[in-house]
Formats: sequence, C-alpha cells, structure tokens
Amino acid sequence: MIVLSASRLYTPLEELQNALLFLEDGRISAISSRGSAAIPNHARLVDLGDSILAPAFLDLHMHGGAGLDVMRASRDELPRLGQWLATHGVAGYFATTVAAPLDSTCAALERLANLIEGKTAGDEAIAARPLGIHLEGPFLSHKRRGVHPPQYLVEPTLPVFERLWQAARGHVSMMTIAPEIPRALEVIAEAARRKVCVSIGHSDAVLAAARAGVKAGARHATHTFNAMRPLDHRDPGILGEVLTNTRLTADIIADGIHVAPEVVRLFLQAKGSDNAVLITDAISAAGMPDGTYQLGPIQVEVKDGKCTANGTLAGSVLTMDRAVRNVTQFAGWSLRDAVRAASLNPARAAGLGGHGRLEAGAQANIVVLSPSGQVRQTIVRGHGS
Ligand SMILES: [Zn+2]
Repeated sequence: MIVLSASRLYTPLEELQNALLFLEDGRISAISSRGSAAIPNHARLVDLGDSILAPAFLDLHMHGGAGLDVMRASRDELPRLGQWLATHGVAGYFATTVAAPLDSTCAALERLANLIEGKTAGDEAIAARPLGIHLEGPFLSHKRRGVHPPQYLVEPTLPVFERLWQAARGHVSMMTIAPEIPRALEVIAEAARRKVCVSIGHSDAVLAAARAGVKAGARHATHTFNAMRPLDHRDPGILGEVLTNTRLTADIIADGIHVAPEVVRLFLQAKGSDNAVLITDAISAAGMPDGTYQLGPIQVEVKDGKCTANGTLAGSVLTMDRAVRNVTQFAGWSLRDAVRAASLNPARAAGLGGHGRLEAGAQANIVVLSPSGQVRQTIVRGHGS
C-alpha cells in the first residue's frame, strides 16, 4: 500500500485539506484528512508537500501530439503519444478523426480499435490510454467544415454510420455531427441509441434545427463558437441552444487563439461548472517546434503556436494542463472548478463511469499539481514515477 500525503485534494466536487490518499493494486482504497486516519505500518508514505491531488485529465477531442497523428501513427508509435500526454496530466483520451477518404478512415478506426482493446496488464508505462474514438466527421456542414476537406464530407446515412461503427468495432464513443444536414437526425438517433455521445458541431444550424438535433439524442456541443453559425441576437442559431440549454454539456478550446479570453469567460458563465468541458483539439504539432505537420490528410502550418491550413485554424498545440490554467486566468475560475472541467465533466459528458474523480474504488488516475496548476507528476492506473 502507498499513501500519498498532500496539502489539498480535489475530488473534484469537494476539496480536502491535508489530504491522504491510499493506493492499493492500482486503485484508490481510501481518501481522508491527516489526523482522521491511521497509516498502516506496512504502507509507504509519500509526502508531496504543498502539492494538490486531483483526478487526472480526460481529453475528448485529441488528434495527436509529440509529432504523432492518431489517424496515421502505427500501433507501436501511439504509446509514445500516451506518454507525452501523461506529462501534461492526461490519463485518458478519445482519439479523434478528421474527414478523410472512407477507406483510410476505416483503416485508421481498425488500428485505433486494436489499440483500445490492446493488452494493458503488466504495462508499467505511465501513459494516457485511448478510451474511445471521437468521429469528427464525416457528417459535417460544408459551410462550417473548417479545414475538413470538402471532398471527404459525407451525407449522413445509417449504412455509412454502420460501416464506421463496424470498422471501429463499436469503439465510437463520440461523434460530432451537423444536425441540420439531410438525414442527420436519423443517424443522431441511432448513434445515441448505441450510447455514443452525440455532439452538435461544425454546423450552420438555426435554432430550430439545433433543437431538433438535441431532441433526436445529441447531448453535447463541439468546440463551441468554432466552426459554428455565429451568434446573432435576433437569430441565435445553434449557439442560442448550446449556451442556454442546461441539459447540454459543451466543450471549448481555451487556448486564447480559437476563442478570445472574454468569450471563453462568457462560455464558462453560460455553461457553469456543471456543464463546461475543456478540450485541446491538439494535433501532432503539440509539444513540437513550429513547422509543417499532418492532421489526417491535411497539411498544417504551425507558427507561433497557431495551426493553420490555407489560412483557416486547424486544431491546436494546446495541452490540457495549460487549458486548465488558462481558465483560471481568463475567467477567474478556481483551480478546482477548472480541474473539474478537465476531469469529471468530460467523464460525465462522455459516459465514462469511474473516470474523472478521486474516490474509494476508482482506478488510480491522478495528477499531482503545484499550487499554481503546473503538473508535477501523473499517476495512471496506479503507476507513477
Ligand atoms: Zn478537431
């Protein structure tokens, strides 16, 4: 048994001072405050000083990092991506696709399914795990496609969805779809029936069409404000629904580039600490120097931390720990609420039960933070340095 001692702990719904966290066989066996629990003689006590213990982060929208692209990297390369993510506090992610030729998308989905199902017992590496696949496309609006190549966008049909589902062997955990395109509602309903977290985005929907998508089963929104019909005070469109429906969770890229800090603040006020989710939308260039990188089939130029393809924003080089710190600066949120938007909230949004919180019985996925939110250590399934 290992006992971690830290100045604070975020569950993240509650905050404990002078915390003790008991680890056994890769799981959290108990949490308490110093003084209220005895430390068994056989236990190893690790004093983390003024550190904060928090649930490790989950990134629901992640295309790559450390030079690796999730659609292109081989099975042997991808664990290196997981190791890099862990250095930024991430324990789990959804490998996120972009619109590409259907055959190559299906090949990528098969590789990712292998990785998700891959044996992990005895794997001592401290690496974030792919927990599912996020299909960002191909069912997107031509008008709001961002950098997704127009020739690879597909009209939603149940047979195409079924083909993607089969290639991924059911590991499609999330799907971004524009609700206003013909027959999208049918596919939304079927995906929701299969417990996919259906997320409206890359969309030019007017308010009624967005609401129809939610009624059909969508329950989340993808990179709010980006690749969305803009908010108009007399014609609120999809953003009117995303920002006001309290049953809808929504995510945002809080890098200060995709959305101005003041608008990140507006988003956080609208969604609140219950429903706001942080994502990175990171691409292979994350953690790498400026240069030319691939995002699926798309070539991306990275300069001064800004990723573009033909002048359009193309993902980010944001890391989850920076997104958390940005939220404390942009919106004055407490570190605990910011951590919640990167852990418990994505777990709830995506139906990842048992993830995103520190509690007895949970898998030991823990980030050790400095008081200012810098990552000091990440523990994944009980393994930490
Ligand atoms: Zn993306």
